[in-house]
Amino acid sequence: YYSKNNHRKWMIWSDRLRAEQSQRDTIETGLRRALDNGEFYLEYQPQYSRGGEVASLEALLRWRTPDGKIIAPATFIPVAENSGLILNISEWVLEQTCRQLKLWQSQPLFDALRVSVNISPRQLRRTDFIKSVEQVLTRSGINPQQLSFEMLETALTDNMPDAQRKLNILKEMKINIALDNFGTGMASLTGLRKLAIDEVKIDRSFVFDMTENDDFLITIRGIVAMCQALNINIVAEGVEKPAQFAALSDMGCHRFQGWLFSRARSPEQLNEILQRRGL
Ligand code: C2E
Ligand code: MG
Ligand code: MG
Repeated sequence: YYSKNNHRKWMIWSDRLRAEQSQRDTIETGLRRALDNGEFYLEYQPQYSRGGEVASLEALLRWRTPDGKIIAPATFIPVAENSGLILNISEWVLEQTCRQLKLWQSQPLFDALRVSVNISPRQLRRTDFIKSVEQVLTRSGINPQQLSFEMLETALTDNMPDAQRKLNILKEMKINIALDNFGTGMASLTGLRKLAIDEVKIDRSFVFDMTENDDFLITIRGIVAMCQALNINIVAEGVEKPAQFAALSDMGCHRFQGWLFSRARSPEQLNEILQRRGL
């Protein structure tokens, strides 16, 4: 009886593993065509200052497959990262963002905006990462001060000396550096001090539960105190409720990103949003 039951469980488990693997394979095959097919596009989510102005935008990658399905980055980015396809995709994201920034620079509503791009761990590890950034900047002719890179803690702490060196060069180039999803890794105070970081983005899982669960509130307080001591800007992501915004604003967060204010939008939709706020 025991072994029969176990065997059944094992069958279910291996069926599921097989199904997941085959889904990953399908995604990988699709990703291989997506770039050439023009299936990727970017949406931009505004970040607001304390006063309610749009201070910057985060470029977020979207994938529309030929059958019209939109696949979430949480589903395809890990596959792209594992297969190495992320390198070509990341190049496209950076290039496309800079092209969009260049277009926006000629519009009064957008000319002071900063746009942030998510940098994948594998992209950062490339030995020619800095060179590729320089090339994109030269090609697009944008002002590097209008560009921000969002990186994950683990991408920086995995190889600290390499990350430290690259971040210092990016800082010299005047590119803004943000630590994304902060609090989920284990970045230490000394780690933060060693790295040329301009801002920290508090992970949205903390914001999500902060008004329900004191543990998260206390964690956020700790992050804010640490960043203030180090003179690092604090961005709260995933702000969905007015109560969250009020508490985060009281604590001293500098910028706010979340569905309470705006979801990620196309450049055309942003035009409208900014026009409305500008009046
Ligand atoms: P992220 O960089 O932390 O981006 C923020 C994510 O939170 C976005 O999900 C955004 O749509 C979502 N979000 C914003 N406000 C709210 C809110 O109020 N509530 C909730 N529930 N969610 C909110 P998205 O666009 O699905 O992207 C997921 C992740 O995929 C990103 O997390 C980032 O890690 C990755 N990603 C997206 N675009 C790129 C890219 O171009 N390159 C790389 N390497 N990664 C990317
Ligand atoms: Mg991000
Ligand atoms: Mg984030």
